[in-house]
Amino acid sequence: MKLKLFDVGNDEAPFVEKWANENNVEVDYVPDSLTRDNINEVSGYDGLCLSHNGPFDNSLLKDLNDMGIKQIAQRSAGFDMYDLEEATANSIKVTNVPSYSPNSIAEYALTGALYFVRKVPTVQQHVAKQDFRWQPTIMARPIKGLTVAVIGTGRIGYIVAELFHHMGCDVIGYDIQINPQAEKFITYKDTVQEAVKDADIVTLHTPATKDTIKMFNQEMFSHFKDGAIFINCARGVLVDTEALIQALDTNKLSGAVIDTYENEATYFRKDWSSKEIEDDLLASLMERDDILLSPHIAFYTNESVENLVERSLNSTMEILRHGDSEFVVNK
Ligand code: NAD
Repeated sequence: MKLKLFDVGNDEAPFVEKWANENNVEVDYVPDSLTRDNINEVSGYDGLCLSHNGPFDNSLLKDLNDMGIKQIAQRSAGFDMYDLEEATANSIKVTNVPSYSPNSIAEYALTGALYFVRKVPTVQQHVAKQDFRWQPTIMARPIKGLTVAVIGTGRIGYIVAELFHHMGCDVIGYDIQINPQAEKFITYKDTVQEAVKDADIVTLHTPATKDTIKMFNQEMFSHFKDGAIFINCARGVLVDTEALIQALDTNKLSGAVIDTYENEATYFRKDWSSKEIEDDLLASLMERDDILLSPHIAFYTNESVENLVERSLNSTMEILRHGDSEFVVNK
């Protein structure tokens, strides 16, 4: 068996080597993405593993089938770049990695909450000005005793709720499907509006669906408690960013953790240091002290990267050896 990996960064390479040694499988990898220009590099390999980001040229599926490729293992939870019908028509099974370290994302949500609860940005501003006084602007509250609303209590939201519960917070939840196991530490409400109305911290953990896209808009922010902290480590499209900025400007919100942004595809995961940011909305998020902006890295720990590599390569081998895997998304 010989496997070919594309999109392999220097963060993933050691885990690819480790997996290859442990499983005694020959692997080759390149940092480039698979395109029509380099599809000939697939020739001679049995299995294919990608971490494609952005649009995929689905016309390549026919070429891959002609080359005898039976599967594509995508090293992410998202697989919307692939035309699944076209993949099935070309006898290619696509797999994803639905979960790789929910704790990593949950811990980042908690980090962001503590960052604002303990007024870290204001403390930093004071210290930068050599003002070392103790004064009300930097006097914080303990997180213990605060009310936290968790919107979406699936794999990640469940752990977020558990972490805040263990910090001594009162955890409120909203989900279209109540998780009975979570009722030990979540008080569920019937609507998002009811869940957010008394919350000091609101944290989002739902997927992007027709019901959740732009769910956090001007109207929804009007139901928030004044001065709440808002956290989006889920999907950028859940939030109307203009409305978020307005909620910060009017002190409806006192801080926001933005790990996912509605127009992130152009910029996130890229080095833009020598180029101008043309997205005025992104530029305005970057310049604010009341926003903790990060490039979709809530998941980004060594555990996640290793699990993404290992689980996608395991799915590859399952399909090559047994013709199927539980992670096939075009059954
Ligand atoms: P999951 O499927 O396990 O849980 C999602 C939960 O949302 C489910 O309980 C579901 O019932 C609920 N839900 C669906 N529609 C809803 C609605 N309209 N209102 C309220 N609840 C609703 O998913 P997960 O693995 O916990 O992922 C949660 C989010 O985190 C996803 O958006 C995912 O893309 C995102 N994510 C972000 C990162 C990152 O690094 N920032 C990494 C991985 C996943």
